Amino acid sequence: MTALLEAADLVRVYEVQRGLLAKPAFVRAVDGVSLAVSAGETLGIVGESGSGKSTLGRVLLGIDPAAGGQVLFSGKPMPARGTPEWRKLRAQMQLVFQDPLAALDRRLPIAEQIGEPLIIHGLVAKADVKDRVSELMAAVGLRRDQAERYPHELSGGQRQRVVIARALATEPKLLVCDEPVSALDVSIQAQVVNLLRDLQDRHGLAMVFISHDLKVVRNIADRVAVMYLGRIVEEASSEDIFVKPLHPYTQALVSSVPVPGRRLKSRIILQGEPPNPAKRPSGCAFHPRCPMAQPPCRTSIPALRTLESKRAAACLLLDRSEVPLVT
Ligand code: ATP
Ligand code: SF4
Ligand code: MG
Repeated sequence: MTALLEAADLVRVYEVQRGLLAKPAFVRAVDGVSLAVSAGETLGIVGESGSGKSTLGRVLLGIDPAAGGQVLFSGKPMPARGTPEWRKLRAQMQLVFQDPLAALDRRLPIAEQIGEPLIIHGLVAKADVKDRVSELMAAVGLRRDQAERYPHELSGGQRQRVVIARALATEPKLLVCDEPVSALDVSIQAQVVNLLRDLQDRHGLAMVFISHDLKVVRNIADRVAVMYLGRIVEEASSEDIFVKPLHPYTQALVSSVPVPGRRLKSRIILQGEPPNPAKRPSGCAFHPRCPMAQPPCRTSIPALRTLESKRAAACLLLDRSEVPLVT
């Protein structure tokens, strides 16, 4: 089956100014990422703050330009950014991010904001916009009598529902959700996650779900990619990532989530500095913090190696088939 979205070797570089006199630094926030997501499937993206998750989401959607690599949608390369062909395909991919208030216009009632993409893309006749907006509101669990409310008159969870309704207006095939529930109360998070799951089932959406909250990712993702300093260091089914993590970084990350049946019992606390892409360590970038590091890890960069049962990991110990990593 052809994946709906494929990315090959994506690179995104930021130029970072370090004071008036210093030369700018170049940060590879996304550094050779390849992935694929099929219709009806959710790929979770996890990793610490600064690992490049949001940048990857923006590059996948063409919001940020890539310095290298390629994105394929329905098996075809995305047309050049800004062209009419690109805009047409771009409407089939939508972004839902953390802060619904920032995504919405405070001066407009929510019905107008949900209806806006319908008008911009000419998706329904003007006379039918109101009905379609009502349908979209019902689909995300908003009441008809809320249509004339303004964003600040709604709760955070309701606002995120408005953003999701607006994203669904163009009948997208792909949703990229960047920390969509992180700003919500824990009690509301599950409702929004269930809504996304339900919408995905009903519409066969492909979803990229970016989050630092591993419990939420475990709940929603079919597969999970783990990022460290702009690269994917492990990718596997959600089950394998949480029950049989192979990469030492993944092991440390998921050790904070209790999972029945996992051999990794105790929590692994990572030592050392959190990742800073402006100061990428040599060799395996994780080596200064890795509890399993060996001398070659300082000089050799581990490739992301495909292993059995559709999983991949980038660790020299796996290359040498030396140690079963889970303790
Ligand atoms: P978080 O979990 O905090 O949201 P993230 O994994 O989404 O983090 P990104 O926001 O993608 O990480 O950032 C990746 C790296 O790129 C970071 O080092 C960040 O400082 C840098 N970065 C992000 N946006 C910019 C920008 N506009 N200009 C320069 N550097 C940037
Ligand atoms: Fe740790 Fe070395 Fe594997 Fe990197 S290559 S994750 S430093 S053991
Ligand atoms: Mg982010």
